[in-house]
Amino acid sequence: MIVVQCWDDGVTNDAPLTDILRKHKAKACFNLNPALHSQERKYSWSRNGYEIWKLGLKELKSVYEGFDIAGHSMTHPHPNQIEPEKWKSEVADCKKYLEDFFGFEVRGFAYPFGEYNDVTKEIVRECGHSYARTTKNLNPCYPPADTMQFHSNCHFLSDKFWTEFESVKKTDGVFYFWGHSYEIETDAMWKDFDDKIKRISEDKSVIWKVPADLF
Ligand SMILES: [Zn+2]
Repeated sequence: MIVVQCWDDGVTNDAPLTDILRKHKAKACFNLNPALHSQERKYSWSRNGYEIWKLGLKELKSVYEGFDIAGHSMTHPHPNQIEPEKWKSEVADCKKYLEDFFGFEVRGFAYPFGEYNDVTKEIVRECGHSYARTTKNLNPCYPPADTMQFHSNCHFLSDKFWTEFESVKKTDGVFYFWGHSYEIETDAMWKDFDDKIKRISEDKSVIWKVPADLF
């Protein structure tokens, strides 16, 4: 089976998260909003009493070294609530910025807030992306009927994570999970995450890929 994962928003927890992924030789894609980063780390918002900070531009290349990068729009607006022209520049500028910054082609996209409609979806396609991830769940998730509506199997904290994983494994299909590293809030949750990635990596039937490799 093939396992793919992606993580949104470019927050500081991506640094310890990528350390865990490297330790277990797991591949992953990170979906970024370039206009929301400054040179240094920047406070973004609070959740459950924890402060969420964006990574600094100056550390992005080292944190994401060896991983794939996809677009998540320049500023994380609600796609369906802004003018289509504005949405187009959010998507196109993001792709160009990330390609210039990282020096490789940005093939994927993830909708901010998981929000899209026929208009906003077609703009993402026209801007040259090979797939776009939603926040809906579907099993089987691959191949998607529309590559601009690539639903994942589940969120990484889903109660059904291993049930879904085992069901995809029976069919030798593609298992796709996603999340935000800021959702990992405690030492116990970091340990659970480390154990989860270790178990996947140690499964002899698993081949790690990044979503863009599927298209
Ligand atoms: Zn997001």
